[in-house]
Amino acid sequence: MPPWPPPFAELAGTLRAVERWLLPAECLLCERPVARADDDALICGLCRSRWLPVPDPACVRCGQPLEAEAECRICAGWPAGFGGVRSAVWLASTARNAVHWLKYQGWWRVAEAMAPAMLRLRPAPGDAILVPVPLGAARQRERGYNQSEMLARAIAPAWRYQVASNRVWRIRETARQTDLTPAARQANVAGAFGARWPGRRAAVLVDDVFTTGATLVAVARALLEAGAPSVSAITFARARRPLDDAVEEVAIGET
Ligand SMILES: [Zn+2]
Ligand SMILES: [Zn+2]
Repeated sequence: MPPWPPPFAELAGTLRAVERWLLPAECLLCERPVARADDDALICGLCRSRWLPVPDPACVRCGQPLEAEAECRICAGWPAGFGGVRSAVWLASTARNAVHWLKYQGWWRVAEAMAPAMLRLRPAPGDAILVPVPLGAARQRERGYNQSEMLARAIAPAWRYQVASNRVWRIRETARQTDLTPAARQANVAGAFGARWPGRRAAVLVDDVFTTGATLVAVARALLEAGAPSVSAITFARARRPLDDAVEEVAIGET
């Protein structure tokens, strides 16, 4: 049974009961029974504990762990005002599977199991607004929800941040990033976003996966041009070698 889209959120309690009754209480990833204490989770605690945190030290701007003394190639061309991208876990093994369930299998509630891993990424204290990276209208219709918005909404209560899903939008549809080289990704998303930003609060972009950062940079540019004083970003997962072409980790990429 597919999960229910957000407009029916007020029915969530009843639906969860129905869902639990209809479905065996098994973890989506390992298919073992989910512990009673955890009985609302779609991913069991053991699978979540196997996600590998992205370690420090990392580049202060793009968050990629660095070899000693190495210069970061990923964020060299990023606009001033955009920085502080952090990712919770590597896009590997069961974390990749979780992203797959969230994005391609209709299980938007998996975001609730993924969000706790992202809570350690809280940006500097202060009042900020979470901005999910938007999907194109066609993809949003096809999927029924935006996976980044589901993550943002799952994180927001812990940080007491607002989620603003209408401040950034896609001006045009873009090709899927997964088949593109890093340079082609940048060209694909350049100028693809519009934004408006009333007020002086900082923007924190939320996305599921960091690969080359091309989409995040394009959204950040739109927000900075619209007057956002600063833009940072958090993602659930990160590809290990974002600048290498055709690496396995990029198989699930941006959007
Ligand atoms: Zn499991
Ligand atoms: Zn960097």
